[in-house]
Amino acid sequence: MTENSKPLKDRVALVTGASRGIGAAVSVRLAELGAHLILVARTKAGLEEVDDKIRSIGGTATLTPLDLSQGVKINQLGSALFERYKKLDILIGNAGLLGTLGPINHIDPKVWQQTMDVNLTANWWLIRSLDPLLRQSSSGRAVFITSTAGHRSRAYWGVYAVSKAGLEMLVKTYAHEVEKTNINVNLFNPGGTRTRMRAEAFPGEDPMTLKTPEHIADQIVKMTLPSYAVNGEIVTAVNPK
Ligand code: NAP
Repeated sequence: MTENSKPLKDRVALVTGASRGIGAAVSVRLAELGAHLILVARTKAGLEEVDDKIRSIGGTATLTPLDLSQGVKINQLGSALFERYKKLDILIGNAGLLGTLGPINHIDPKVWQQTMDVNLTANWWLIRSLDPLLRQSSSGRAVFITSTAGHRSRAYWGVYAVSKAGLEMLVKTYAHEVEKTNINVNLFNPGGTRTRMRAEAFPGEDPMTLKTPEHIADQIVKMTLPSYAVNGEIVTAVNPK
């Protein structure tokens, strides 16, 4: 790969939920385009696997095993990144969990709390602690991963849907607040994609009928380029032909 094919050279990118699925695929693609990756998730083995892939294509990554339901740890991460890099160019708020599928009145309070903590509140903590770093970038780009469930109500998707609806409002509000800065912030809705979460939601489905995370990685990465001028939108994945 030539230098010209590395438009993200010298850029620092943080991806949450980087240990597998969509986050892993996006991380590898960002690294391929030259970015240095900060990989965040709980599962060290998964992060190491992604790191191996990144190294094999000549990229670099820093592994950050972290439980995103602990907001104070996200704050500490922000301080550590400031010490080391002084800026953040790309933030991908991707980590998420399904919680549980079932009637609203049957949701276990612990599951409710955990789902809201990871899908919604962790992204608020990320914005809170990383906004000053994104402002130091010549073109800070943030993309948060949402779902159709976040804007189309249906029975039994309660806690997941509420957490994603909250995420959409959080991100759109933040987008207004950074309108006059170098930061652009958007949402991406991948639609049905072949990952562990999708299999948990639709256990009877044949995963081979679904697009892979690699299929949509490029669409997300496009939203992180300095030339990407859109702000405050929900972009929906285009399915492969
Ligand atoms: P996945 O394969 O299950 O990956 C989820 C990621 O989130 C994992 O890397 C997981 O890492 C991380 N995560 C979960 N809880 C965490 C915590 N407490 N702290 C840190 N990291 C945590 O699912 P996916 O499909 O790739 O999901 C990625 C995003 O796409 C999610 O926001 C999801 O809502 C969204 N989405 C997916 C689909 C789909 O069809 N797949 C459709 C619409 C939207 P660890 O377990 O290692 O911590």
